[in-house]
Amino acid sequence: MHKDRLYDRIGQFLDDHRLAPDPAHYAFVHAILTDPNSSLARAAADLIDGGVRLHQDDILRLGGPAPQPMPPDDHAPPAPPRHFVPSTSEAQTDSLAEQTQGQVEAFSAMIRTIQADTSAFGADLARNAAAIQLGATNGLNALATLTGEMLERIHAAERQLAQSTAEAEALREKLAEARATARRDPLTGLANRLAFNEALNQCFQTLAPCHLALCDVDRFKRINDEHGHAVGDRVLNAIGQILAEEGRGHLVSRHGGEEFAILISNVSAKEAFSLVERARASVRQRNLRARETGESIGQITFSAGMTTFRPGDTQETLFARADELLYRAKNDGRDLAYCD
Ligand code: GH3
Ligand code: MG
Ligand code: MG
Repeated sequence: MHKDRLYDRIGQFLDDHRLAPDPAHYAFVHAILTDPNSSLARAAADLIDGGVRLHQDDILRLGGPAPQPMPPDDHAPPAPPRHFVPSTSEAQTDSLAEQTQGQVEAFSAMIRTIQADTSAFGADLARNAAAIQLGATNGLNALATLTGEMLERIHAAERQLAQSTAEAEALREKLAEARATARRDPLTGLANRLAFNEALNQCFQTLAPCHLALCDVDRFKRINDEHGHAVGDRVLNAIGQILAEEGRGHLVSRHGGEEFAILISNVSAKEAFSLVERARASVRQRNLRARETGESIGQITFSAGMTTFRPGDTQETLFARADELLYRAKNDGRDLAYCD
């Protein structure tokens, strides 16, 4: 009965090969049954040819998903897919997050397919049960009871699938959040270097008019030395907020240490430079005080180098020009900004 249904065929395949009914195996069998001409399906068929039973290791070797541990019994809900713990560099973390997101999306797609199959199957069973009960004889009553039980199992499976889908959805949101966190500087909440470089690459691709301003706080080491690192941190945060305010509508990032980078788009070089000068005036005018002592931190200034994107520029050439202008501003006495 209903043996041609994908849901049944997947179940039968898992049974035949004594594979645990977990999401990874579902995904593998779903892939080879729905696309029998794929190289994965053909490789699996070659292996199975002659009655050989597929083993978890075969699935891995064929490039299928990593197997999950055996659930304690056949009726246990499928285990959620395993995820790798992101490590070391930002780029690595990022690529792992993307891979994991891909896995989760494949898992969600699989769950949706099974859900559609089971609900169609459940509807058929419901119709059969009603028809059998209408012509009620003892035998038919027994059959109706049996069908009712099967129906209950289908409903239980549907509930488990709905739960797995919700879990996958929550996981996907967490991953999106992790990707956003990986692009934010924790001290100031501004975009970090990774986010900035991505936005810059986007500008290079679209050839959108843009300007890069590198801003470096003057004599910042002295603030740390005189007031302590914690006050230094708060000063950096305050400067970040002022830059974000003055650079609203553009991308303001903390590029590292006491250095900020602003990507100013879709305005003339003159307007962009005015923005930098307004930000410098704003920081200079702010009278910051150490919270603990109430003592004034004194005037804070930063120097800047701003350059305009030219066709053929790379990140390196653009940054080199901005750096050169910033260096000149520092050399000429600080509290200055230059542009080309
Ligand atoms: P210059 O005008 O030449 O830029 O002088 P400077 O003192 O700002 O530059 P220098 O590169 O000599 O020192 C930068 C200082 O910024 C040294 C470092 O301890 C401090 N710094 C970098 N990152 C942080 C941070 O996250 N928190 C705090 N409190 N200090 C930081
Ligand atoms: Mg510096
Ligand atoms: Mg500095």
